[in-house]
Amino acid sequence: MTKHIFVTGGVVSSLGKGLTSASIGLLLERRGLKVRMQKLDPYINVDPGTMSPYQHGEVYVLDDGAETDLDLGHYERFTETPLSQRSNYTTGRIYSTVIQKERRGEYLGATVQVVPHVTNEIKAAVTQLRGPDVDVVITELGGTVGDIEGLPFLEAIRQLPLELGKQNCLFIHLTLVPYLKAAREAKTKPTQHSVGQLRQIGIQPDILVVRTERPLGRENAEKIALFCNVEKDSVIEETDMEFSIYEVPIGLAEHGLDRLIIDKLGLPAGDLQMDDWKELMARVRHPLHEVTIGVVGKYIEHRDAYKSIYESLTHAGFSHTTRVLFKRIEAEDLDQGDVERALGNIDGLLVPGGFGYRGIEGKIKAIQYAREKKIPFFGICLGMQCAVIEFARNVLGLRDANSTEFAEDTPDPVICMLEEQKTIQDKGGTMRLGAQPCTLKEGSKAWSCYETSEISERHRHRYEFNPAYRDRLIAAGMVPTGTNPKNTLVEVVEVPDHPWFVAVQYHPEFKSKPLVPHPLFKGFVNAAIRKHRGE
Ligand code: GLN
Repeated sequence: MTKHIFVTGGVVSSLGKGLTSASIGLLLERRGLKVRMQKLDPYINVDPGTMSPYQHGEVYVLDDGAETDLDLGHYERFTETPLSQRSNYTTGRIYSTVIQKERRGEYLGATVQVVPHVTNEIKAAVTQLRGPDVDVVITELGGTVGDIEGLPFLEAIRQLPLELGKQNCLFIHLTLVPYLKAAREAKTKPTQHSVGQLRQIGIQPDILVVRTERPLGRENAEKIALFCNVEKDSVIEETDMEFSIYEVPIGLAEHGLDRLIIDKLGLPAGDLQMDDWKELMARVRHPLHEVTIGVVGKYIEHRDAYKSIYESLTHAGFSHTTRVLFKRIEAEDLDQGDVERALGNIDGLLVPGGFGYRGIEGKIKAIQYAREKKIPFFGICLGMQCAVIEFARNVLGLRDANSTEFAEDTPDPVICMLEEQKTIQDKGGTMRLGAQPCTLKEGSKAWSCYETSEISERHRHRYEFNPAYRDRLIAAGMVPTGTNPKNTLVEVVEVPDHPWFVAVQYHPEFKSKPLVPHPLFKGFVNAAIRKHRGE
């Protein structure tokens, strides 16, 4: 019998609901349970694929090509749960299904309404994850309780215990208890209000997870329990983890969250096995090295825009017991600025993905600097395309080489639009998306990182390496070392006459985990360590 956990958030956004949900998923898996995870997002976009990183941070891509919320990145980094298109629903997606059904006449003359038609569609999105091999479905609800657009989702999850049995559903509410320095007091009122709002809708939370800067204390916990109508031991504090987000599940387990959930739902769980996770955290607290990676991007001041990139670099650091520091550099500042000053003291350069012309010239200058000064370089998606443009301009002497994304009439389109993209008008969900196979050239740097020649990686792009320039680039020293076996699209390029210059058309950052870092990130950070030591 599959059980359900619903995670809602209150008081303010950005409380780390995704991290908390992922941590719960991990703890339950580490007690031998089979977990499925999903996120419901109340905004009206059908998926986050059309949103600017300023609005929404990174778009996280799954194997099946789903463009999803970045919280799904936490789910994949923490758990083994299989994710797919079924793991992220938005208001836009729910409504478009309802409207399509209405147009097909499937409602047989009924007036189509939020309750029951929209709420039924939301419930179907949740219950489809049930199955004979699934112990728990964790559904995280985006937004904050009190948002107008979240109401149909709350109403849908309110109804579910009536259908599935109250004993099979658990509501966890994440709130904030701010500490007021002037009053020297932690304040519980916002939490009381937030739970009050939930109860008005008809949802009584079973467990409160309370984010606090300072330990909550017994008195406050008891006060919250009384005013929010929850049991005393069901108020769990989640204090800020200074060192690493990967300590969050350890902290929650210390406060007994996994035991509480298991008892309340009557789950057939084993003992908690977190030794490897704890050992990792204990080891990396005392790093042997420290390296600085320069990340040159277009949305650089927005921390979430390159979330998976930073996480993957951190994981790679873990595997080398190395602290990876980031130097975040706004690409546009390099257009005219002093590259030497910006990049002079970095141990490695990473140029991530992106769209549009702004900042491109700065990225190209940064890559030229890393290539010429023999600084380890890792290019990802747009970063790979910029590396090809840079090489064509500065080594082949094709001074106006460009991507047709930025200069449609360039005389040398070394990056051009994929054939399959040329007739597509719609923007949403139409890129080359999801997992694609790639064959690596034996002896290449990529091949030695992966230790295999057949790989699969996730994609999200419209433009590609132009094969018309392949031979000239090879002759000048830039070698395609990874190609798609089905259509020969170039997926990886390298400059062999360089300590580490690898650029990939795909997004390796979506497949790295703290205990299993991605091989390319591992190789890149290793090269940065060597550079740092002057090897
Ligand atoms: N804008 C480029 C393209 O569409 C790169 C995309 C990306 O970096 N994800 O091909």
